[in-house]
Amino acid sequence: MRKTEPDRHIAASRRVTWAGLVTNLVLAAVKFTAGSLGHSQAVVADGAHSLADLVSDLAVLVGLRFWSAPADSGHPYGHRRIETLVTIAIGAMLIVMAAGLAIRAISAVVLVHGETPGWIALTAALLSIGVKEALYRWTVQVGRRAGSPALIANAWHHRSDSFSSVPVVLAVSTAMLHPRMVFVDHVGALVVAGMIVKVACRILLDAIGDLIDRSAGREDLKRIEKIARSIPGVRSIHALRSRRISGGLFVDLHIQVDGALSVREGHRISGVVERAILKHGPRVLDVVVHLEPSEAQRTADGTRDRGAAT
Ligand SMILES: [Zn+2]
Ligand SMILES: [Zn+2]
Repeated sequence: MRKTEPDRHIAASRRVTWAGLVTNLVLAAVKFTAGSLGHSQAVVADGAHSLADLVSDLAVLVGLRFWSAPADSGHPYGHRRIETLVTIAIGAMLIVMAAGLAIRAISAVVLVHGETPGWIALTAALLSIGVKEALYRWTVQVGRRAGSPALIANAWHHRSDSFSSVPVVLAVSTAMLHPRMVFVDHVGALVVAGMIVKVACRILLDAIGDLIDRSAGREDLKRIEKIARSIPGVRSIHALRSRRISGGLFVDLHIQVDGALSVREGHRISGVVERAILKHGPRVLDVVVHLEPSEAQRTADGTRDRGAAT
């Protein structure tokens, strides 16, 4: 049984990512212009960052084309691992970004506190915070609905961009209110870097878990088991296995039915089990049911059962 991904999720993912890409382009243009006119190196550098952010939007847009493609003879399980790769790339970008932020904050503290950012920097920062936070909310909502880790990772990139503008606001406002406390923006930058690293690690660990075929959680397995057992004709189930693949699950299990049933009836029951798990299970993308007579558990396919997680 195979279920193709709903097209509307793909369309929504594409729309929100294009919006992010265009926003980053506009932000880059605004920051380059304002930075050069106002002679602010920091704002020009920030514009370069917005330009670099295009890379992660592009990775999602290009990746989406491939990972949403249906299974073919060369890739009979579909192409969803491509999404995992894109997710890992975005997670790595976030780590690099956080490291850059932390290094700048520390090296500037060790030297002398730099020039206080001016009004142009403040305006650019406030613009970034507002726009990127809005973009985060939209993207993460679409990502959760579509069950797309890459989209959620890209959403966190938007939010990280928003966070990393906070130190600039801190710098300007403290310079105006308490000129002696100008170091707070460095502390702020370090805190922000730490938060970004934390999110990036979670994104990376989840994606790596997908790559090494981590099982679904206990709750999800219980739910699948309950669905299978609830189907009339199913006497018991065992050897339930699952592996995660970019926000979804591949599941296989053995069901036992009355051995006196016809092959046709047994096949019908396993079809009902598959459809029920696909429909009511926790984001199950594919199910394979192995059918056996209830008296044969430890004989006919004992070897296979021992190797599986029952
Ligand atoms: Zn960024
Ligand atoms: Zn079995």
